[in-house]
Amino acid sequence: MANVEFAVFKCPAAACLRPSDWRALMVLLSRLGLRTRGAFVDKDSRVELTHGRGSGFSTYGVSILDAVPGVNDGLGNSVEECECDDGASQEDEGFMGMSPLLQAHHAMERMEEFVCKVWEGRWRVIPHDVLPEWLKDNDFLLHGHRPPMPSFRACFKSIFRIHTETGNIWTHLLGCVFFLCLGIFYMFRPNISFVAPLQEKVVFGLFFLGAILCLSFSWLFHTVYCHSEGVSRIFSKLDYSGIALLIMGSFVPWLYYSFYCNPQPCFVYLIVICVLGIAAIIVSQWDMFATPQYRGVRAGVFLGLGLSGIIPALHYVISEGFLKAATIGQIGWLLLMAGLYITGAALYAARIPERFFPGKCDIWFHSHQLFHIFVVAGAFVHFHGVSNLQEFRFMVGGGCSEEDAL
Ligand SMILES: [Zn+2]
Repeated sequence: MANVEFAVFKCPAAACLRPSDWRALMVLLSRLGLRTRGAFVDKDSRVELTHGRGSGFSTYGVSILDAVPGVNDGLGNSVEECECDDGASQEDEGFMGMSPLLQAHHAMERMEEFVCKVWEGRWRVIPHDVLPEWLKDNDFLLHGHRPPMPSFRACFKSIFRIHTETGNIWTHLLGCVFFLCLGIFYMFRPNISFVAPLQEKVVFGLFFLGAILCLSFSWLFHTVYCHSEGVSRIFSKLDYSGIALLIMGSFVPWLYYSFYCNPQPCFVYLIVICVLGIAAIIVSQWDMFATPQYRGVRAGVFLGLGLSGIIPALHYVISEGFLKAATIGQIGWLLLMAGLYITGAALYAARIPERFFPGKCDIWFHSHQLFHIFVVAGAFVHFHGVSNLQEFRFMVGGGCSEEDAL
């Protein structure tokens, strides 16, 4: 058993195991002479021992219920199958010489030690095929996944380790800090140039709030994604809700300035985007929505929400003319933003480029990371466009003449 890489006990929340299960588990480990690097147990209390290095993994399962000391000899067969070396056999004999109480105590001690090792930083990345079902999202990312780690401390520490989520976390963590600084600077800059400072600050504040919430929920989700099935489910719903909030927040300053002198359609469009956004949030609370099969549906829902902006944009172009829309209306920046979001969503849905290079984009440049970068870029382009609209409004002043309807 010298070359055992780690034991994978697939478990959504290993911490929820009954103490008797843990004792049985640790007895099993000691008997096998395993040096564990990561260990998790699934709902059926089946233990999977993954044996070997690199691509040469072999997995075999043992029921830990069969491994409770003194209950049966099922374990003996497993030990034989494992071709234990002499050292391990001697250790095993020493352990079995102890009284059951001492065995249990010993096992509990080893369990504590092992929990610390696994969840406080000494875990190793694992291949996709040994991940529990709830962590299997993208089968083109072959290696470099975090094991399930039911400890928030371990999840947050993993921000500084290299694995499939590192890029996803940092793209939106840095994006979040960027928009936080940009928001504070923009709203509180000394040479203030607003026509109606309070109203305009609320309008821009809603955009920054949407962006900051979206990016925060996203990096938090990617950080705690491997905690447990329940936690990943809650945070994935927050993550999706954040996208809807970013889209809703983006519409506010754009509609406010584009229909500055025409508040009625502005109001109607604001209500419509709020209703659609809330509908998207409600849909994303559905458990199936987060599953890999619904990747395309997810991309479609948020793309549809964003593209609902085509209607107010067409309204503006038709009533103001293309020339005014392209210059004052900042349609160019809006089209660039739409292009960035559409590209990001398409890469996300089609899982490009890892689809063409399975196993080559495990850590860097996989579709989700690119999608994150496109979201940050799209939000910044949108900010640039609406800040141009705001500047124009400041230049012409707050008044609205008869011919200047918008
Ligand atoms: Zn994400």
